Amino acid sequence: MLNRLEVLIHRDVLVGVRHAIAANPKVEVGGKLVGFIDRAASASAAPWPAGLRLRVVASIDPGPQAVRTATQLIPDGRYQADVLVRLRDQDPSLAFVGTWHSHHPNGFPTLSPGDLDSYRSTVADQRFENPFLFASLALDRRGLARHWLMLTDGTLLELPSVVPFEGANPWPDRVAVAREQALAARETRWFHTDAGRWRVAADQAALRSLGAAPVARLCDDSLEWSATLAGERELTLEYPREWPGGHVVVTLTDTTAGSACWVAVADDRPLLEVVEELATRVSASGSTLHASAAERVALQDT
Ligand SMILES: [Zn+2]
Repeated sequence: MLNRLEVLIHRDVLVGVRHAIAANPKVEVGGKLVGFIDRAASASAAPWPAGLRLRVVASIDPGPQAVRTATQLIPDGRYQADVLVRLRDQDPSLAFVGTWHSHHPNGFPTLSPGDLDSYRSTVADQRFENPFLFASLALDRRGLARHWLMLTDGTLLELPSVVPFEGANPWPDRVAVAREQALAARETRWFHTDAGRWRVAADQAALRSLGAAPVARLCDDSLEWSATLAGERELTLEYPREWPGGHVVVTLTDTTAGSACWVAVADDRPLLEVVEELATRVSASGSTLHASAAERVALQDT
């Protein structure tokens, strides 16, 4: 039954795979495959996958934040999803149909347990719309060599072959445009701009000069740094969604005094000056709970 499911891969994709491998000899490469699932003209009412035709037309690269090593490739899922949304705006019938990657740096001849785990979690995801996930593996510079279908119940079936096809294909160019748009959208986050990077670097340097090892936390589009200072004090910088324009809120928490905290707005002031001011307020208070949670909330709401 399976060999009545046709998998067609556009030559643009096959060539792109070989280029990606040649350009990255030491690390795994891969991509998210997009295309169309349609019933072959000859199909009757046979149950799937008989009579289904999968046409793979393009691959979305793993993205700027992907982790790539000789044995592992973890794509930047947020970036790939963003590119896919932009492509589907142009044709809602375009689907995420599968994935490919290459074992050329390690020579492992088949899918790894990690590969299978990730495919199983993909098909189990409620948002996955198709009856199967197509998976293709390259082993060397010659490109895609082995192909599988992972069914939604986790069953893995190897396909004997796929069919290359040619012809007009607008999708690689559309992927290139969507890619630029997705990257540009990321760049608009303030801490990716030159001024934003400078601001964050200056604050990090200030924290280090206080003897602290700052830790960053990125939550959606907002950024937070925290550091533990001497005397069991915790310093936290919460950056606004937009900067300049929003407040940079600095909180000094005394973890020994019932987590009493002192809050100030840094904005254009150097961080060290703000920390000094907070430290003075701590000394002047001489007691716990100087700043209330209400003060903190009021500052963040302004
Ligand atoms: Zn693998």
